[in-house]
Amino acid sequence: MGERVCLVHYHEIGLKGKNRPAFERQLVTNLGRALRTFPISGVRRAFGRLVVSAEDGRASSELAHAIVQVPGVARVSLAYVCSLDEGEYCAAAVRALGEAGEFKTFKVHARRSATTYERHSIDINRLVGDALCQAFPDREVRMHQPDVTVYVNVVASRVYVYASSAVGVGGLPVGTAGKVVTLLSSGFDSPVATWMVGRRGAVCVPVHFSGRPMTADTSEYLCQDIVRAFEPAGIVGRLYVVPFGERQREISLIVPQGLRIIIYRRVMFAVSERIARIEGAKALVTGESLGQVASQTLDNIAAVNEVVSMPVLRPLIGSDKQEIMRRAQRIGTYDISSQAADDCCTLFMPRRPETHARLSKVLEAWDLFDHDAMIDDLVRDAEYLDFDQCPSYRPPRDLSEMHDELLSRKR
Ligand code: ATP
Ligand code: MG
Repeated sequence: MGERVCLVHYHEIGLKGKNRPAFERQLVTNLGRALRTFPISGVRRAFGRLVVSAEDGRASSELAHAIVQVPGVARVSLAYVCSLDEGEYCAAAVRALGEAGEFKTFKVHARRSATTYERHSIDINRLVGDALCQAFPDREVRMHQPDVTVYVNVVASRVYVYASSAVGVGGLPVGTAGKVVTLLSSGFDSPVATWMVGRRGAVCVPVHFSGRPMTADTSEYLCQDIVRAFEPAGIVGRLYVVPFGERQREISLIVPQGLRIIIYRRVMFAVSERIARIEGAKALVTGESLGQVASQTLDNIAAVNEVVSMPVLRPLIGSDKQEIMRRAQRIGTYDISSQAADDCCTLFMPRRPETHARLSKVLEAWDLFDHDAMIDDLVRDAEYLDFDQCPSYRPPRDLSEMHDELLSRKR
């Protein structure tokens, strides 16, 4: 029994019909990037799966662990690669079942993608089943819901044998669903929202509004840490940071208390939409969840939303805080978001914010200052930082002049 490889299963891509080859190519590219620190010798397509091989022929569980975090991956199995020799693949099945942990019942599931091999899958099931019964005499064969299934896939002149699989994050390969701009704070919600649209195949370009120069730049570093936490999933190409403190102060001096949050947020949405147009992104994403805080009532969401024409996706709108926190833990942003940092949201906050803003009042307040000039200035003041985790991220090209005006802060 020779090599050990990681077999990558991706059922949802299979549903996409004609798009399938493009989806598979994207997943191959993304895996190549996500696994760049591992000594792998290649990622290739075979029989509706991807095969990731290690340079030394010994794919490890660490490698499998890195693969399960890549969007588009449904499951990963560490498989033995055997020849068509019966003795060899039966021995591999014994080994695979022995490594499957605690179990009482098992079954064999053989599949033959190569019709040139004379044995039918029913024969293979029986042959491998016999070998396993001999090796594990005190365990029982059960066809319905066994503890472990040993898979034997015959493909061309190879036989892949595996018993256990790790569950992947699912979703679709990043780069197959276009680009979005996500409004990223260092709180719990927006990192989770960003990850969720990334998992559905969107390339994410987060925009963070910091309270600088009125606050420290802690929230900016936390946002960078959040983007780094996305490294295994590879969803972010570039992070924009917009220093908003000075402008917020201006707004707070002009706009009535109760409407300030809504006005801040309208400016944030408008600036983000502008950056989205520069980036060629087709939607904005926020971490809003209905009724969670004062600014997230339907009235207030509508009053903010009115300022943009692009679709605004809110993947968490129906989620409870507890669910969001659990997800944050799983994707590795929880500890970062637990750190307190002032950002523009804690700055110049009114004591009694309006919870059900009337649009006419909001529009009156909006016209109390030159909002167009403010939005232009903020877009011009935006800084950015590039991350090389997302192979399908393309920086804006058409608007390269505008792009040049954005100050580049190299890491
Ligand atoms: P979060 O946990 O994401 O900070 P929140 O519960 O604090 O959200 P709000 O402050 O009302 O709720 O923010 C709602 C959404 O607005 C956030 O999920 C995020 O998408 C966006 N947002 C809030 N603050 C910022 C910021 N400083 N920069 C960019 N986007 C922000
Ligand atoms: Mg927040």
